[in-house]
Amino acid sequence: MDSDGGEASRILLQLETLKSTKSEIERQISALEAQLQEINQQHPNATVPNGSCPPVIPSVDSGYGHDLSPQMIYRYSRHLLLPAFGVQGQSKLLKSSVLVVGAGGLGSLLCYILQLVVLILGTQYLYGIASLGRLGIVDHDVVELNNMHRQIIHTEGFIGQPKVRSAATACRSINSTIQVVEYQEPLRTSNALEILSKYDIIVDATDNAPSRYMISDCCVVLGKPLVSGAAVGLEGQLTVFNYNGGPCYRCLFPTPPPATACQRCSDSGVLGVVPGVIGCLQALEAIKIASEIGEALSERMLLFDALSGRIRIVKIRGRSLQCVACGENAPFSKQQFQEFDYEKFTQSPLTPLPLKLKLLQADSRINSKEYKEKLVRGEAHVLIDVRPEHHFKIVSLPNSLNIPLSSLEARLPEISSALKEKEEHQGTDSGLGGRLYVICRRGNDSQRAVQFLHKMGFTSARDIIGGLEGWAHDVDPNVPTY
Ligand SMILES: [Zn+2]
Repeated sequence: MDSDGGEASRILLQLETLKSTKSEIERQISALEAQLQEINQQHPNATVPNGSCPPVIPSVDSGYGHDLSPQMIYRYSRHLLLPAFGVQGQSKLLKSSVLVVGAGGLGSLLCYILQLVVLILGTQYLYGIASLGRLGIVDHDVVELNNMHRQIIHTEGFIGQPKVRSAATACRSINSTIQVVEYQEPLRTSNALEILSKYDIIVDATDNAPSRYMISDCCVVLGKPLVSGAAVGLEGQLTVFNYNGGPCYRCLFPTPPPATACQRCSDSGVLGVVPGVIGCLQALEAIKIASEIGEALSERMLLFDALSGRIRIVKIRGRSLQCVACGENAPFSKQQFQEFDYEKFTQSPLTPLPLKLKLLQADSRINSKEYKEKLVRGEAHVLIDVRPEHHFKIVSLPNSLNIPLSSLEARLPEISSALKEKEEHQGTDSGLGGRLYVICRRGNDSQRAVQFLHKMGFTSARDIIGGLEGWAHDVDPNVPTY
């Protein structure tokens, strides 16, 4: 047993070392490739000695009535064989540029980037013309372990590194001739016009209301089609905005939904395959628009229900003449766009951090270290965990009583009797003072619960600041976070 254990640790150690070396090598390769791309853009006729990348070929007529080179014909042959697509479709595709906003950060979609790379990307490199076949990726986030189950472009070696770097490296490893532009910054009104203006088609893969309004408005101002997708839980949806006289996001949603109604994957969860499905469909819409084939999903919305395996396409409203962004009377100007406060409009932040409410006075709160001290002293108390039951099953503190916030009102008698039991056990008559603590995941619902408990006469209820995440951070790093 012991020697097995020793062998296992030795292998683990070796694996760790190799992984970190691999990650460093990948980083260096990516940096060198980016350098090479830059050189080739500046000197399109330079040849690459001994490199795996093919030499730059200027755009010339092939003599066959199209401008695809022999390498391109081979690489994209399965596209060319499609009668509806053919060399015309592929040629248009190769001349397009696509910007993806959100490289999987905060639950947005990502794996479609892979599809975009494989299918859409043209070889600017081969053409030697800078404006052809470009993929831009905007994201400010870093790769985390809990992204892996759905954001398949990232690998463990990139944990802690910027998502745009990880995504771009993966793209280049699929197609070393492509041009991937990395924007490792959050999209804001101050940089959006400049970044979006460089691309033909914009793909929205963000997961929050202010970004959706901002990206849509920016596309209206610049006259760009927008492929918009969303995936939360077991459902996804997809549509194309601002295309051929179709509606924009604001036409459909003139006023933002209440901030509490916006679900995010980090709160509601998402089945890994769902963003994959929607992501692939987003790639398909981008390809159709770029190559001018088929019918883009404009004025229609695709709704995907993973549980029933059902895809429905519903008709949605057309362009609204009264729309603040694209309406006849008041189309948004560049200046209006730059001055618009999207965070205020939607009452939520552009780069959502976990919500941190402050509903209670300091004397109604206790931090996790103070709670730990009470545990050590053996202070009799009742600990209520107000998270939903399926969260409680993931991880919970010992001796906590799970009463989800939604059923708190109905289950008050349980709290009373739990407190009474503790009191009898302790043999004191200190009343209910100071012995009821409430915990949740991050310390928001616990405040809501304490507010309610105070109203219902449990005046000594206290919330544990920062919830289980705070506990894991400040007291016990072995408690898993999710
Ligand atoms: Zn509109």
